[in-house]
Amino acid sequence: MAPPVVPTVKLSNGYEVPVIGLGTWKSKPGEVTQAVKDAIDAGYRHIDCAITYRNEPEVGAALSAKMAEGVIRREDIFVTSKLWNTCHRPDLVIPQLKQTLTNLGLAYVDLYLIHWPFAFQEGGENMPKDADGNVIFSDVDYVDTWKSMEEAHRQKLAKSIGVSNFNSLQVSRVLEVATIKPVMNQVECHPYLNQKRLIEFCRARGIQVTGYSPLGSRDSVFAKPGGRELLDDPVLGQLAAKHGRSPAQVALRYQIQRGMIVVPKSVTKKRIIENISIFDFELSPEDMALVDSLDCNGRICRVEHSLKHKHYPFSAEF
Ligand code: NDP
Repeated sequence: MAPPVVPTVKLSNGYEVPVIGLGTWKSKPGEVTQAVKDAIDAGYRHIDCAITYRNEPEVGAALSAKMAEGVIRREDIFVTSKLWNTCHRPDLVIPQLKQTLTNLGLAYVDLYLIHWPFAFQEGGENMPKDADGNVIFSDVDYVDTWKSMEEAHRQKLAKSIGVSNFNSLQVSRVLEVATIKPVMNQVECHPYLNQKRLIEFCRARGIQVTGYSPLGSRDSVFAKPGGRELLDDPVLGQLAAKHGRSPAQVALRYQIQRGMIVVPKSVTKKRIIENISIFDFELSPEDMALVDSLDCNGRICRVEHSLKHKHYPFSAEF
């Protein structure tokens, strides 16, 4: 069967991003190359990476292989990566992006994001810790980091630039200093945390929103709010039965119908195909309202190690 044709969302700078991409956090180096190849064969043209996932070279190997096979050209695929917290100091941004480009074997990324608004002590470990095990913070302000993100764009190392895990106040501060506006805010988003207000806020300012952990991040170490796994939710089960689909497909279709971009992670070929097979059914307005009603501020990725950081994003109302 021919792979599905995936719709795109237009960014404020005119570039288009496919509404579904493959997530790669927690995908082991030994499995991610095959997962990315399977995803490309299944029709994915968007891959979500980050230097801190420690698997970019293996993602890059799959991209090179599929380009060598003639399955894709560079311009056919939308690749996102993210600046890690230890490299917010303006002079460290471009070197880290260049490292990512080397890792991925690419001359540019389609989208480069500031991964988190808070910075950690520069250099060394990804999670620098003191003798008591507390993460060592850095004072660098993300608005200063943003200036180097703009420079990365000017140097054509990133076609688009954006942020991730920024709350509405933080987005506003970036917009105040930006000569090149962020086109994207990538945030956790699923039926238990539907982010309605933040999405409205971003869209009103020309910023698209990508939802991460759209399936509830079953394989992450974070405890699930209320102890329930999203994909075991009875309402998702009920809607899945009604449409002859899986709960994962309902959760992803819900996001697509509300204009979101999603980046579900899987290293399992069957699920990679299942997750992109969502463009041939539709949730009714009543179904959508039912999924909306599941919202319970059920944030999974709370990053409590940085609760005391002055740029911790999740204390604001939205
Ligand atoms: P997801 O919500 O995508 O869930 C991944 C888990 O769901 C894995 O255990 C996977 O298993 C399983 N799964 C995938 N498809 C199905 C299916 N159809 N049925 C049942 N189970 C399924 O979690 P993530 O937290 O990984 O989020 C997705 C991506 O978002 C990340 O990989 C990353 O790229 C991005 N992200 C970005 C963050 C940021 O700070 N910007 C933070 C967190 C995530 P298996 O792989 O074994 O098939």
